Amino acid sequence: STALNQLELPQVVTTLPEHIVELVASMHDVVSTRLAHPRRFRASQLKALERMLEAHEQDFLDALADDLGKGPVEAKMTEIDMVRVEIDHAQLHLSEWMESKSVKIPLALQPAAAKIEPQPLGVVLVIGAWNYPLQLILAPLVASIAAGNVTVLKPSELAPATSALLGRLIPQFLDQRACAVVQGGASTTTVLLKQQFDHIFYTGGERVGKIVAVAAAQQLTPVTLELGGKSPAVVMDGASAAVARRLVFGKFMNAGQTCVAPDYVLAVGDSARALEKSLAKVITSFYGKNPLLSKDYGRIVNRAHFDRLVACLDDGEVLIGGGYDEDTLKIEPTVMINIDPDSPLLREEIFGPILPIISVESFDAAVRFINARPNPLVAYLFSENPRLQSAYGDQVRAGAIVHNAPNVHLAVPTLPFGGVGTSGMGSYHGRHGFERLSQMRAVLGKTTVVDTMRAVYPPYTWAKSKL
Ligand code: NAD
Repeated sequence: STALNQLELPQVVTTLPEHIVELVASMHDVVSTRLAHPRRFRASQLKALERMLEAHEQDFLDALADDLGKGPVEAKMTEIDMVRVEIDHAQLHLSEWMESKSVKIPLALQPAAAKIEPQPLGVVLVIGAWNYPLQLILAPLVASIAAGNVTVLKPSELAPATSALLGRLIPQFLDQRACAVVQGGASTTTVLLKQQFDHIFYTGGERVGKIVAVAAAQQLTPVTLELGGKSPAVVMDGASAAVARRLVFGKFMNAGQTCVAPDYVLAVGDSARALEKSLAKVITSFYGKNPLLSKDYGRIVNRAHFDRLVACLDDGEVLIGGGYDEDTLKIEPTVMINIDPDSPLLREEIFGPILPIISVESFDAAVRFINARPNPLVAYLFSENPRLQSAYGDQVRAGAIVHNAPNVHLAVPTLPFGGVGTSGMGSYHGRHGFERLSQMRAVLGKTTVVDTMRAVYPPYTWAKSKL
């Protein structure tokens, strides 16, 4: 059933603090047995994850419909298939990633053998966000398994159906010694953050990201922070109907609750007027005359976020949409112009189906607008002009630079996915995730049978320093 209101949603069964302490301690014991190190074990866990998704696809689709009103096709594409791509890619490349790599040695230090040998880190904590509650837990898990770690998963309490399902299925399919699900909200995460981990992989907002980083610093635990922010979309003059289709696809997927969604449009020159017309047409062609009834259009995660977004509808001129339904927590795909400069729409990540269009006179003005603000997770440019594309990359600092295609760079496992500056630190997907959750250990070997280091021992002479 698609839940209508937060109060009707299942609540997660919070894991007790004493169980968390015990669990993490036992996970460290498992690390010392090297259970999760062998290639065969890693491969078996990836296979088990694949089987879980296959056997329970419908259950996951139901949970995602409950949590966010996601339609089954969108949920399959953006959650289940995204994880599948990561699993397939890891299965294909696992042996190659795990290989140690011989490296060159300076002449003065020869003869010797030097190599880089990926080692598991140990116990990895993955904390997920609610907007893609399956993908944001399982994609980091794929990287963690591939790297030979044991993993504690903490799904978001704001997507309780998915959290509960993961809590039920993960222990059924994966080796319970090497992977565990902890459920609960902020207080549970607070207990978790007091434990010792070898890496904390966090996805969510900046505020909690800082809490995680501070807690990790107490134990010198490395962190990956996958945060959000306002990702701009610069649209150049002469934008085609395809540009409008791409924008609507990227922005209104998951009702705008996507970390890489175009947050706002910077329309250069005359492109605003052309866009306004084509966006209206595209929205109707994608979601019908009444998008609030479309099975392909999701809802806002909860009442608090719904109220926050509805309040923003008064902060400017609503050009398209603007309707909403309090009972289903749905807000129409909305396009706004002439936004009050003090509105949260211009200051905070929107994270909902409201697309502001801001007109700027030139490409340079668009770049200045972006650079006067925190670093985006992605900076989009809609232009076919290679000169502008390369200038955009040269001048804008963002986690990713993407031309003409919102949201899809996430589905390319050979690309690192992550932010920079205020949008996060560290990246994952494919090999990048494997390396992020591995120690790339240096190994050097020489022999003492022939003492080739004699030339560098004290007493020192200047001649020795020139060797
Ligand atoms: P959220 O509310 O689900 O919080 C994320 C996690 O932090 C949850 O597991 C939650 O239990 C935990 N948490 C909440 N309060 C805490 C506290 N006080 N102490 C410790 N832990 C706490 O998600 P959110 O923060 O609303 O997520 C939305 C944000 O995430 C957006 O900014 C979005 O852009 C970003 N995001 C980024 C990515 C990415 O991959 N870079 C992906 C999705 C979402």
